[in-house]
Amino acid sequence: MKRFVCLLLALALLPGCQRREDTARQSLFCMDTVMDLQVWGADAQAAAGDLAALLNDLQDQWNACDEESLIGALNQGTTQPDPQQQRLLDRVEELSRRTGGAFDPHLHSVSACWGFPTGDYRVPTREELAEALKEDDWDLGAALKGYAGDRCVELLKGYDVDRAILDLGGNIQTWGEKPDGTPWQIGIRDPRGEGLLGTVSVRGTMAVVTSGDYQRYFEADGKRYHHILDPKTGYPADSGLSAVTVICADGLTADALSTALFVLGLEAGTRLWQESGDFEAVFVLTTGEVFATEGAALSGCDYEVICRED
Ligand code: AMP
Ligand code: MG
Repeated sequence: MKRFVCLLLALALLPGCQRREDTARQSLFCMDTVMDLQVWGADAQAAAGDLAALLNDLQDQWNACDEESLIGALNQGTTQPDPQQQRLLDRVEELSRRTGGAFDPHLHSVSACWGFPTGDYRVPTREELAEALKEDDWDLGAALKGYAGDRCVELLKGYDVDRAILDLGGNIQTWGEKPDGTPWQIGIRDPRGEGLLGTVSVRGTMAVVTSGDYQRYFEADGKRYHHILDPKTGYPADSGLSAVTVICADGLTADALSTALFVLGLEAGTRLWQESGDFEAVFVLTTGEVFATEGAALSGCDYEVICRED
């Protein structure tokens, strides 16, 4: 009997008898942020390398500050998008309509007036903003990382990998299930502190995307000017929120909606959620109060639940 158990153990330890799970972790600076990719599975190393290459490629195509990029050429009218690029542009236009224009992918000139793309911050005049608002040059900064998450998921499907968690600079994209069956736990940063506000639990393929007034801003005359702009005025959105997190199976939608909900504020944002069925949201007010839609699976903090109207 002893010998039989030993044989079983030896068989189980033989290479090839058990599927080995490799892990790969890669950090990169891309799309103006630090990204952290973690992949598990037999092809983890190859997949992580190809994910990084894909992310760099998307950055090179869609960096509105680079005149040599695809989006730079589109803004100068010197090129035409290919069918895949056109599909992305069509989808962001559709998301803009869905949010009543709160998500506006044509704010590059307005953002440039404030110096956000370059870091040369300044407060523009009303006249400058009025002129810039007439321009319609593309800026996909509010949606690109979410779209990149979707493209990463597509890429992962072609590899022998079990699961992945991709931190695309505040945009978290999960793929696959954890082996112990527990959900992924995604921390949400406290917009006015160093630590976490709370945690949302998600399963399978999901995007968890946060837009906040703490992510990029400057101060002038004692006032904070942040990078999420109200397309109606050209000024930083002042809707009473300091951060919004959107949880959605589609990364592009999550990213566009996080920006849009930040512009819309709690009330109009809640209305958009009530008439939709494809996302959940966590709203953090400038007062520090937290509201979460009923499916958001938020834990670790006190909050008021937003329910669907009957
Ligand atoms: P996010 O962090 O996803 O909310 O995106 C913010 C970035 O999107 C900014 O740095 C601008 O490049 C751009 N942006 C600012 N305001 C808007 C808006 N209302 N709609 C779409 N893009 C915006
Ligand atoms: Mg966004």
